[in-house]
Amino acid sequence: MLKGKVAIVTGSTSGIGLGIASELARLRADIVLNGFGDAGEIEQIRGGITREYGVRVAYDGADMSKEEAVRGLIAATVEKYGRLDILVNNAGIQFTAPVEEFPAAKWNAILAINLSAAFHGIAAAVPQMRKQGWGRIVNIASAHGLVASTHKAAYVAAKHGLIGLTKVVGLETAGSGVTCNAVCPGWVRTPLVDKQIDDIAAQRGISQQDAAKELLAEKQPSLQFVSPAQLGGTVAFLCSGAADQITGTAISVDGGWTAQ
Ligand code: NAD
Repeated sequence: MLKGKVAIVTGSTSGIGLGIASELARLRADIVLNGFGDAGEIEQIRGGITREYGVRVAYDGADMSKEEAVRGLIAATVEKYGRLDILVNNAGIQFTAPVEEFPAAKWNAILAINLSAAFHGIAAAVPQMRKQGWGRIVNIASAHGLVASTHKAAYVAAKHGLIGLTKVVGLETAGSGVTCNAVCPGWVRTPLVDKQIDDIAAQRGISQQDAAKELLAEKQPSLQFVSPAQLGGTVAFLCSGAADQITGTAISVDGGWTAQ
């Protein structure tokens, strides 16, 4: 379905981004991986996807907290492959604290990585996508892009902002063959959420398994985690012809979280 297309997935060395990159590769897109981690492990991931799906897989370690690095990632991809068809803005971090104790440095980092990186990436990618007459921009927001929780001032602000950005870019590119949408996952069991499960387990003196159950019970009526593979499938749908007229919107994949 995506043979000959080139996809960048930011933050794809782990968790949801890796699930999305794998699904796009399975559909035969060439992939640019991005994110931090151990060089050997990243090379194993890169080689594994290449061998499994027979597509070209590159790795670019651009730091999404830095404007020039984000814009450089887009430019280097266009330079290397001569095109850019799919941009998935997925890299993200979390930090939790009450607003009056929230460290300014954490606020700045979360806004930079979870929101501004998407702006810089989109701004750099749209001209190329317009030239091609086809492009897919998918911003990985969150249930926290639609509703709030305590102690997540920066994350909730960034994710709400990301959905606003999605709407503007959807409007500005309407009719050009380029679409821009957000995906809003509920809880997904990744390192980002494992840390929150660890915190609950420690605070309450309960097992990790019980802490995971509590985390789900508080927000996610299905009481089941969303999987990275399911989110890969959602992004693949947004890259399909069936989604040509879906733009500027936010799709929830949250086990019922935001229906309440
Ligand atoms: P994760 O921690 O498993 O992965 C985050 C990825 O981003 C990693 O590859 C990491 O190396 C990369 N990254 C972090 N800082 C970076 C930087 N400065 N530059 C480049 N890469 C950087 O987390 P995840 O749960 O897979 O989260 C992925 C996205 O999904 C995030 O935007 C997160 O907010 C969103 N999300 C996650 C959940 C969840 O329950 N896990 C729910 C809703 C939304």
